[in-house]
Amino acid sequence: MLKNILSIFLKENCPLCERTTHQEICDYCQKQLKSCQLKKPQRFWQGDLPLFVWGVYDGKLKRAIAALKYDKQSQIGEILGVWLAETWQNHSLINRKISPLIIPIPIHESKQKIRGFNQSEIIAKGFCQVTKYPLNSQGLIRIRQTKAMFSLTFEEKQKNIQGSFKLGKSLQNYSLSKPVLLVDDIYTTGTTVKEAARILRNQGIKVIGVLAVSTPRHL
Ligand SMILES: [Zn+2]
Repeated sequence: MLKNILSIFLKENCPLCERTTHQEICDYCQKQLKSCQLKKPQRFWQGDLPLFVWGVYDGKLKRAIAALKYDKQSQIGEILGVWLAETWQNHSLINRKISPLIIPIPIHESKQKIRGFNQSEIIAKGFCQVTKYPLNSQGLIRIRQTKAMFSLTFEEKQKNIQGSFKLGKSLQNYSLSKPVLLVDDIYTTGTTVKEAARILRNQGIKVIGVLAVSTPRHL
């Protein structure tokens, strides 16, 4: 309430276009971002590790994710997380009585120091605000810094990611039957999330799927 009252007086610049706005992202950019939304976000919800994606990694959404990661614009991540949650809730792909544990894909500590935060954790926070699912940001830990993936072949990617995660302390004696949903900013080949799921499943934890904000159009 107070924030709403203040926002009438306190106008700030939109992090994506510099227009003054009293919202986190201006109306114009919100509209452009929403035009990247997938019509069938549930179309990859199948197989061993089902995937639910909000939008196409292109245009405005690609720029927004870059601004989130490299310009420290964390509010963008929260909004994307909220939108991901609203779309997720519209599709009811899992039993509504289940409230899965949300684990964001971690980045290496040294990267997080430079960036100031883990973008997937910010997205997961926005997601959990809406869904009220429990969040465990330390469920997985990145123990190895991986090389940039885009120039690697599929086999190289798999090799590169192997052994780069470990289970967080809070999950090492995890015996609850609560299943897990992983959250990531971009889903490309799936090697990262598959490795994350493997570590959790080795511990007997059920991983029901992956939620991602974006994926390249060709997928
Ligand atoms: Zn804008």
